[in-house]
Amino acid sequence: MPTVRSPSHSPLVDPFGRAITYLRVSVTDRCDFRCVYCMAEDMTFLPKRDVLSLEELDRLCSAFVDRGVRKLRLTGGEPLVRKNIMTLIANLSRHLGSGALDELTLTTNGSQLARHARELADHGVRRINVSVDTLDADKFRSITRWGELGKVMDGIRAAQAAGLEIKINAVALKGVNEHEFDDLIRWTHGEGMDLTLIETMPLGEIGDDRTDQYLPLSLVRSRLAEHWTLEDIPYKTGGPARYVRVAETGGRLGFITPLTHNFCEGCNRVRVTCTGTLFMCLGQEDAADLRAPLRASEGDELLQAAIEEAIARKPKGHDFVIDRTHRGPAVSRHMSVTGG
Ligand code: SAM
Ligand code: SF4
Repeated sequence: MPTVRSPSHSPLVDPFGRAITYLRVSVTDRCDFRCVYCMAEDMTFLPKRDVLSLEELDRLCSAFVDRGVRKLRLTGGEPLVRKNIMTLIANLSRHLGSGALDELTLTTNGSQLARHARELADHGVRRINVSVDTLDADKFRSITRWGELGKVMDGIRAAQAAGLEIKINAVALKGVNEHEFDDLIRWTHGEGMDLTLIETMPLGEIGDDRTDQYLPLSLVRSRLAEHWTLEDIPYKTGGPARYVRVAETGGRLGFITPLTHNFCEGCNRVRVTCTGTLFMCLGQEDAADLRAPLRASEGDELLQAAIEEAIARKPKGHDFVIDRTHRGPAVSRHMSVTGG
């Protein structure tokens, strides 16, 4: 007898035929840094009662895994400042064990990595993204407002010692780190790490004018190509970066270019916030509340119905613009709410 899959376990496919296989979960909106492009210094965080418990986050993630999500990324805010986050990671790792999930990973600012790296590896995490925009400790402090580069470097070393593969994310900031990309390439590739450069995205009020920060990666790439040999490669991580190999180092360099190159056509991702709000697109306001159906019953029927209904409205793409006439945010929520 052929196996008939129950309809509620069928894969999630959006109206444009894109299968949803990648879920990013912001496990907290809080952070121990205040990066200038991400947050205002005096951020107001969500009341704790609105935030899903670790058990609820587990149920939510597992509901998506049940529907064909193969890659789960925990992010934030800073995921490693969420109390008892390792319990959630340990529990979610059962899906790696069962083969339902290909990858459990996280994006972190690295500040708490030194004490968590070994445990992450023990729970089946293989690769992590760490954000480092500059190798200059003073500049690092002024970009992150509260961060210490030395601690992040300790975290990276601990992660390497635990055998984790590391990708460094750097946001390209005009007049701030735009002359440091050569150093970042040499450092990351010298350490066997990938590097991805990211354009600033207009998410949330940050108390600054974003046109002052925005540096198009098309310009960065053409400057880099003057003294590095950049070879296009088909490497894919499931995310939106396009990769080149730098012939001189042998290392990989990714570009995430939401503004100069729209990456929506192959989008396989959705995002959930720590309050259980599902965003079908990082750059649009439309969202679905999953907390109410999650809390309304112990079974997952209502939750699954809400997920299905939301995926049926996933938009074709975002409409980000940063120029002199569009200085404000395209969407009002911060990256730390939706998760990067
Ligand atoms: N706190 C963790 C970290 O910094 O890696 C995870 C969350 S953070 C929101 C995820 C990524 O988004 C980071 O690499 C950060 O640099 C990036 N990011 C934050 N705000 C951004 C913005 N407005 N435009 C582009 N990237 C942004
Ligand atoms: Fe925190 Fe990450 Fe946002 Fe920086 S980018 S303020 S580390 S959430």
